[in-house]
Amino acid sequence: MDSLWNSYTANIAYAISQLCIAIIMGGLYFLAPTERSTRYWALSGLLSIFGSTLTAFSISKFGHLPLITGSTLMIAAMTAKWWGTQAFFGKHPAHVGWYLILGFFITYSLSVLLQLTVGIRTLLFSLMLAVLMFLNVVEVIKARGIRLSFANSLVIIAYTLAAADFILRGILAISGGIDLAPQSHDPINVFGLYLIPMWCNLLGSLGLLLMYFESIILEKEHLASHDELTKLYNRRALVNLGRREVDLALRYQKPISIFMLDLDHFKLVNDTYGHDVGDKVLRSVALTLSNTCRNTDIIGRYGGEELCILCPHTTTEEAIALGDRVLEAMRNLRHPACDNRQVTCSLGLYTWNPHIDLATSWEAMLHRADTALYAAKAAGRNCMLQYNIEADRQNQ
Ligand code: GH3
Ligand code: MG
Ligand code: MG
Repeated sequence: MDSLWNSYTANIAYAISQLCIAIIMGGLYFLAPTERSTRYWALSGLLSIFGSTLTAFSISKFGHLPLITGSTLMIAAMTAKWWGTQAFFGKHPAHVGWYLILGFFITYSLSVLLQLTVGIRTLLFSLMLAVLMFLNVVEVIKARGIRLSFANSLVIIAYTLAAADFILRGILAISGGIDLAPQSHDPINVFGLYLIPMWCNLLGSLGLLLMYFESIILEKEHLASHDELTKLYNRRALVNLGRREVDLALRYQKPISIFMLDLDHFKLVNDTYGHDVGDKVLRSVALTLSNTCRNTDIIGRYGGEELCILCPHTTTEEAIALGDRVLEAMRNLRHPACDNRQVTCSLGLYTWNPHIDLATSWEAMLHRADTALYAAKAAGRNCMLQYNIEADRQNQ
């Protein structure tokens, strides 16, 4: 039983786990080849298998070559993992990775050729791996900040543990208290070199895999609720959020305001400059609105060039102030794609006041804001009008 506890068996387990990671990541890469991260992560798994196998099964008749190649491949594997993590966050894989691999190869080869102690070699190898693991952790923390999900946390914890393990192993190696021979049964070597990093690397890779799926799910949810052109809420999301906010306003007796916004003579922009330019104008209008409204306001594209702004907890006076700001921002906005032209908008406003109005519904509020919008159009455009119940009755 005791003979099972050596680096060879641990290495086989390590190689199998890396093979599984390489297969999964490779499969994902072939499913979505434009995604560069999975390509690097798959490569990392493959390099790890070759690297760890070569290192552990160094055959003496090939001299030091398997040890040097294997160790360099292991460093390349961890560099590829780092590159994958960078690619995942939309960055270009850092060139410095190549220098790290080359630098390690030269230093490690020299340490072998100059017959420095195994301890020094191990320290060099372990510290290098620890640095690369930390680089993965730093990449995730930089991209996610304090908004950590389960997947991000898993990556951070697993690679921090693995890095700490490697640092400890390097220190133990240099202090001479550990048998580093591949056939060693020393539990510190077997656990420290293979089993702990194997678990951590497996957990880290699972974390990366979860991060990948998490991003797909978030993207899917975003696509389902947002308009592709303007990046604002789409009609479906707007209606769902709107109904909920109206229910909350009724329940807690808080005022709520709603604007319907329509671009003035937008057809003219399309007819004069083309649909693509019209799209650009719509995008910059959406951005201007997002910058002008408060982040508690809900802005959605109701359809075509008609947008809706829902303002929870907003009285008539506050809504009028916001509407004026929107009109002003639109007047000041110039569109380079169409001869720096100004594209104005008309606004229809309805505020539900808990102390004056009877209970209402999202649909009724929307209808009233829309009625006010038509009145604003009739009044000459580029202005805001509030819903007027008398005028509405006369129209009916
Ligand atoms: P009004 O001041 O009365 O609102 O005049 P208008 O020209 O803005 O209104 P109309 O309803 O006649 O035309 C709306 C135009 O909006 C026509 C349509 O092609 C354009 N439009 C709607 N959706 C989009 C879009 O996604 N992209 C582009 N480029 N144009 C769009
Ligand atoms: Mg219009
Ligand atoms: Mg319209």
